[in-house]
Amino acid sequence: MAQGSSLALASMLGKQYMTIQTAKTVVFWYLVLCRFVRVVRHLRARGLITAAREAYLVLVRKGFACMLLLPSVRNKVQGELDQVTLDLAGKLAPKYPDAPTFTALPETGLASNDVTAALAKLSDLPRTEWEGGRVSGAVYHGGKDMGDIWREAFGRFEVSNPLHADVFPGVRKMDAEVVSMCLSLYNAPLPASAIDDGGAGTTTSGGTESILMACKAYRDRARAEFGITEPEMIVPKSVHAAFDKAAMYFGIKIHHIPVDRKTRKVQIAKVRRAINVNTILLVGSAPNFPDGAIDDISALSDLAVKHRIGLHVDCCLGSFLVPFLERAGFPTVPFDFRVPGVTSISCDTHKYGFSPKGSSCIMYRSKQIRKYQYSVTTTWPGGVYATPSMSGSRPGALIAGAWASLVHMGIDGYTQSCRDIVGAAKRIAHGVKKDFPELYVLGDPLVSVVAFGSKTEGQGNGKGCLPIYEVGDRMSKAGWHLNALQDPPALHIACTRLTVTAVDDFLRDLRVAVDEVKALEEPGKGSMVMLYGLGTGSAVGGQLIGEMASRYMDVVCIDLYPPCITVQHT
Ligand SMILES: *Cc1c(COP(=O)(O)O)cnc(C)c1O
Repeated sequence: MAQGSSLALASMLGKQYMTIQTAKTVVFWYLVLCRFVRVVRHLRARGLITAAREAYLVLVRKGFACMLLLPSVRNKVQGELDQVTLDLAGKLAPKYPDAPTFTALPETGLASNDVTAALAKLSDLPRTEWEGGRVSGAVYHGGKDMGDIWREAFGRFEVSNPLHADVFPGVRKMDAEVVSMCLSLYNAPLPASAIDDGGAGTTTSGGTESILMACKAYRDRARAEFGITEPEMIVPKSVHAAFDKAAMYFGIKIHHIPVDRKTRKVQIAKVRRAINVNTILLVGSAPNFPDGAIDDISALSDLAVKHRIGLHVDCCLGSFLVPFLERAGFPTVPFDFRVPGVTSISCDTHKYGFSPKGSSCIMYRSKQIRKYQYSVTTTWPGGVYATPSMSGSRPGALIAGAWASLVHMGIDGYTQSCRDIVGAAKRIAHGVKKDFPELYVLGDPLVSVVAFGSKTEGQGNGKGCLPIYEVGDRMSKAGWHLNALQDPPALHIACTRLTVTAVDDFLRDLRVAVDEVKALEEPGKGSMVMLYGLGTGSAVGGQLIGEMASRYMDVVCIDLYPPCITVQHT
């Protein structure tokens, strides 16, 4: 009896042991399978060559990091970086002995007329003269009339904050109207009923926040509605860096898909290949920042509809130009909510909407998506706390400024500004194509950005060769602030209202710059290559550029601590 029961026990234990063993094996193979599926998805999305190159870069970076553990190498690299930082600081944060400087609070506060005088001095520091239209982007309107309108708005809404909607009803109303004006401009679907469905949006502090909010909304929607815990998004290589920021902030895997070399539009076949069950979002730009191309939104929409995923159109730059192309008599392409798969659009009122900086709008096809943008905390001791976007308190003065700019411009004003600005870009593109056989224009820009590169780039550096960054250096000396692009090396100008009267100057100065570089016995590579060429060319270069970019942040944020006070009274 005792023996029998102990046998039974042994066999039971044995069976249990076997069950645990089996469970272990099952779990093991399940994990292996998960890993395998992940690797396959990754390879499918990236392609073998890109995946191999990325793996190689990771290895080189690890090796470099190991080498940095050697004191001799570390000291050398640190020394060189310190020198670069000093150079940057000298250029970007020079000392102004005559300017009022406070790195700690003054013991006694300044009288208001002293504050006014100090502000006047600070606004008079030597600066780039953007009024002449030689700066790419940056100041989009720049007219005194618009400045007066902003000041009027700021003055009347100086203390307002939409967080307290009941205290500041005017700002709440204007906030909603800015969103509504954008929705109507982008042909958002009309609501079926007062609280249900239909296009919806919020204002934000800028294009980056609009993009961050959209990515957060799609991530949270995917988790809540489809149980996706490892979200992925697919973006064109040419998309704005704010999407990389969103990927970092919100833990979304990001796939960058190459663009077509000729059209500069994202390669649709490669987007399709990158889609898998974890994909939450496709992105297209209208237009993109680097070369101003508009991705094929209709083709992206077909993919989005078929796979039931979101499609965001980044119209941050297109803002108040792209919706006016047709009215202004220029060719256009589908880009807005009339394309069925488009589920959200970001539009910067503070670019071609001519609003003061700190203003943008994020729009969704329906409230069902927007609700995932909100953040709600019900258990906070301070009360139930709900905000639509990143900020808590927000400057009502900026909302008033945006509202005032929009209603001041109107459909007629924006149509005219589109005619002028896109007209200027077309004259530049045409001039470069016609009179500069050494250069080529990237893609076929439909809006305000024109990017151009050298046909002889990378073909040695003998006489007659034309490294484009060297041309950029000469344009800088002539007072132009163009953007240097990488991959391929190129320069771009984003035309604004101020560029309209500077087109002839631009083409003339470009002619001089190109001729000068061509006449050189041995043209250099241009100082821009310092930052751009190195970054893409080599793995270690990329690492160093990253370190240098962080140093750049340190410099522009100016580490003035510990404080030394030199108060200058006027
Ligand atoms: C400017 C821009 C953004 C957003 O930039 P912010 O500086 O944050 O307003 C996003 N996408 C594109 C294409 C842009 O040009």
